[in-house]
Amino acid sequence: MAQKIAKIPLSIYQRKDRLIWNHSRNGEYTVRSGYALAKEMEAQATKSVQSKEQTSSHNRKEIKDLVHRRTGKGDNICTSCGDGIETLEHMFFECDYAKKIWKLSPISWDGLIDLQACFWRWWEGLLEATQRVNGKEHIELTINILWQIWKARNKVIFDNAKVKEITIVRKAQNGWNSRKLWN
Ligand SMILES: [Zn+2]
Repeated sequence: MAQKIAKIPLSIYQRKDRLIWNHSRNGEYTVRSGYALAKEMEAQATKSVQSKEQTSSHNRKEIKDLVHRRTGKGDNICTSCGDGIETLEHMFFECDYAKKIWKLSPISWDGLIDLQACFWRWWEGLLEATQRVNGKEHIELTINILWQIWKARNKVIFDNAKVKEITIVRKAQNGWNSRKLWN
């Protein structure tokens, strides 16, 4: 059953994975791809009910059972904490899981805290940092962190496996370091 679920929808996210981290060799492109990725994460998180409706009724029942067993609640509940609707704001900022990750990460965006209530405002604020010293690198690391949080969220849903917070930070940094070697 776990195998069946792993096969369900996320071919899109695998494609983006390649697009961004292997094919993107200049910063602008990464930021653009990051935008596309964030848009897609938003669509998948907020429309997860609809996308589940498109799977066969058999698979849909399996997913719902899985979510219900894990959280005791219906769809759209955060799979990390089981407590909160899974919006981008929750997933990246409000969830205890995300908070711990940002605490462990070498980068913080204290100046953007007021914008966290709306992911897209926060995102705009983030991109303004391109002008800062090392701004581009810091944005890239940040996008890596968002990306790893997203991948971990999918791992919980499709593989029923939780990724430790520190692992998220290490993976994001590794991706960032190897990207730097390309330039
Ligand atoms: Zn949560």
